[in-house]
Amino acid sequence: MPPPPDRDEIARWVRERDPRRRSGLWEVADGVRQAQVGDEVHLRGLIEISNHCVRHCAYCGINAGHRALARYRLDPATVVVLAQDAREADCGTVVLQAGEDPWWTGERVADLIRRLKVEVGVAVTLSLGERPVEDLARWREAGADRYLLRFETGNQDLYRRVHPPQRDWGRDRRDQLADLRRLGYEVGSGFLVGLPGSTWDDLVDDILLCRELDLDMVGIGPYLPHPMTPLGRTVAPADPEQVPAADVPTTLTSMALLRLLLPTVNLPATTALGILDPVEGLEAGLRAGANIVMPDFTPDTERRLYSIYPGKEGAGPAGAERVASIRRRLIAIGRTVGTGAGTAPVWHRRREGAA
Ligand code: SF4
Repeated sequence: MPPPPDRDEIARWVRERDPRRRSGLWEVADGVRQAQVGDEVHLRGLIEISNHCVRHCAYCGINAGHRALARYRLDPATVVVLAQDAREADCGTVVLQAGEDPWWTGERVADLIRRLKVEVGVAVTLSLGERPVEDLARWREAGADRYLLRFETGNQDLYRRVHPPQRDWGRDRRDQLADLRRLGYEVGSGFLVGLPGSTWDDLVDDILLCRELDLDMVGIGPYLPHPMTPLGRTVAPADPEQVPAADVPTTLTSMALLRLLLPTVNLPATTALGILDPVEGLEAGLRAGANIVMPDFTPDTERRLYSIYPGKEGAGPAGAERVASIRRRLIAIGRTVGTGAGTAPVWHRRREGAA
């Protein structure tokens, strides 16, 4: 296996513009992916259970300040049916995603997790934003397996500007990631590539921070400006000498570097990548180190309203139709649909080490 790149090498790679050299790096990462986690691609059925959010993140299309956006919540019975659909379409995991929505109380979410475990029999990933540690503990006890919470950028000044803290909260996402680890979750996080205000050095730091956090899953995607957000409305085109490009090659190179730094991590080819390149984005991600895909099972009407970035609402079919298309595309590049929950090998090893 190639040695993990050091900081200087990462800094050179992210700015590399020679297509041949870049492709060479992606191929090396693909080889590491194959050797470490195999050819299986695990499907996570995404269910966006609510687009209500109390937060004002400057980059996000469902932030509380976007008052023109119609809001929805799926009821728990509907979520169970959607999860069954996902299970039947070979998704060993469902991902419950929402804005920070107080309607989804600790107890309501715990009840839903229990139903998914008993009635559907799937691994459950939660992506419900920043929540009190009591809720996280209760959900873990109810059977939740994983939690996704992106740190978005490790640059703390920038983070506070784009992600205004909640009053009286006193915790940030990094604190919550530590709590999730302590509670025994598989922990997923990640960042935005090309977030306005970030620098090339920040991108290098963000890649290295994923290793420092010893993540089980890393989800990264290019920043896509949403016209109904403070950042999307106000930020002028960035100077590419200063700000990392929010483009496909920079995202693929970042993914490849993450695969080299964290060889057994679960690494999705994200929807945002597929929006920048609808024809080849999925395949390109899977050839640059990715081993996870997250087909969306949210019903069409609600999916259109979960517009965290532009283009997501129209990102192809949903549900079983989407899975059939993904399956064809996987087979065409020599990959297979994974069976089982697709737990990150690194998480098992950590558990064994702790025993
Ligand atoms: S990023 Fe998450 S917490 Fe922030 S506004 Fe969007 S949904 Fe809410």
